[in-house]
Amino acid sequence: MRNAEVIVVGGGPAGSAAAQRLKAAGADVLVLDKEHFPRHKLCAGWITPQVVSDLRLEIQAYPYGFLNFRRIHWHMLGLNMPLPCVQHSIRRFEFDAWLLQHSGADFVQHAVKEIRPDGDGYVIDEAYRCRYLIGAAGTACPVRRSLFGHVLQRNRDLQTVTLELEFPHDWQDPDCHLWFFEHGLPGYAWYVPKASGWLNVGVGAMAARMKRRGANIREHWDHLMSKLDRQFGIRTPSEPSGYSYYLLGGMDTLRAGNAFLSGDSAGLATRDLCEGIGPAIRSGQRAAEAIVSGTAYTLDGIAGASLGGGLISKSMDWAFARGASPVHY
Ligand SMILES: Cc1cc2nc3c(=O)[nH]c(=O)nc-3n(C[C@H](O)[C@H](O)[C@H](O)COP(=O)(O)OP(=O)(O)OC[C@H]3O[C@@H](n4cnc5c(N)ncnc54)[C@H](O)[C@@H]3O)c2cc1C
Repeated sequence: MRNAEVIVVGGGPAGSAAAQRLKAAGADVLVLDKEHFPRHKLCAGWITPQVVSDLRLEIQAYPYGFLNFRRIHWHMLGLNMPLPCVQHSIRRFEFDAWLLQHSGADFVQHAVKEIRPDGDGYVIDEAYRCRYLIGAAGTACPVRRSLFGHVLQRNRDLQTVTLELEFPHDWQDPDCHLWFFEHGLPGYAWYVPKASGWLNVGVGAMAARMKRRGANIREHWDHLMSKLDRQFGIRTPSEPSGYSYYLLGGMDTLRAGNAFLSGDSAGLATRDLCEGIGPAIRSGQRAAEAIVSGTAYTLDGIAGASLGGGLISKSMDWAFARGASPVHY
C-alpha cells in the first residue's frame, strides 16, 4: 500500500492546479491519472487572461504554442461582430502535460476504480491510502461516484454535449470565430486556431434541449462542416469525437469529510460560454488551500459566467434577454 498525505485523482487542469498549490505548501501529494501524459483531451483550448493570471503563467516561458487572438468574431442572429480582445489558445495535449509536470507532484498512471473511507482517510483500489482526497477526474470522476453519489444528483438541464476535432491546418485567418444558436442549436459552434499550425473546430449544446427538439449534435456538426468549407475552404481530415460535461448548478456539497470535488467532477463550467478550464483551475486551487490552511472550501469567485462588462457582454445580454442563452434557449 502506498501512502500519501493527499491524493489527487485526475491530472487535468483541476488536478494539476491543486497539486501545484499543495506542493508549494510542502504537502506530500500524489496524482493518479488513467492516462500517460501527454494525453489527448477534447477541448477547444481557449483560455482567458484570468487563467493566465490564476496560474501566474509567464507566457514567454511557456515552451509550446500560445496564440493571442486579435479579435473574436461573434456571429449571432445573422450579424458578424468582430471584437478586439485579449484572449488566448493553447493545445490541451501540450498544456496539460506541462501543467502536471510543473506541479512538481509525484505521478502514477493508474485508472481509479473503487474508493472506500478508512478512518479519517481513504483507500483507493486497495493500493493507495491518503488522508485527503481531491476528485479531479472529469465528468465520470470515481471520487464523485464513490463518495458523493448519494448526495449529488446531476442536473440534466445543465449537461452539455459536444463534437470536435483538432488537426494540423495551415489556417489563414488567425481570429477566433463563434457562431451562436444557428439552425436552432441550443449552444454554439467554434473555429479556434492554435499556434504552430493547428486548428480546433466543434459544436457544443445543451443536451436536454437538443433532445426535446428531436435534434442531434451530428446534424449541427455537418452544418458546421459545410460552413467551414464555404467560408474558409476547410475540409476536416477525420471524424470528430464527443465528450459531455456539466455547467455550474446550485450545489453546495463539494466537500465530504476529507474528500473534495473540483473542475468537471463538480460540474463548474460557465453557464454562458461553457468555459471549464478556468473554473477547474480555481476550484483545484481552492481545494488545496482548504487542505493546507484549514479554511472552508467555497466556490467564491467561480461565478458561472465568462462574460464581464463591455460590448461583448452587452451584445450577449441583449440576445440572452431574448431567450438565446445556451441554458435557456
Ligand atoms: C469539446 C469541448 C470543448 C471545450 N472547450 C473549452 C474551451 O475552449 N475553454 C474552456 O475553458 N473549456 C472548454 N471545455 C471544458 C474543459 O475542457 C473542461 O471543463 C476542463 O478540461 C475540466 O478540467 P478538469 O481538470 O476538471 O478535467 P479534465 O481536463 O477532463 O481532466 C480529468 C483527468 O482525469 C483523468 N481520469 C478520468 N477518469 C479517471 C480515473 N478513473 N482514474 C484516474 N484518472 C482519471 C483523465 O484522464 C483526465 O486526465 C471544453 C470541453 C469540451 C468537451
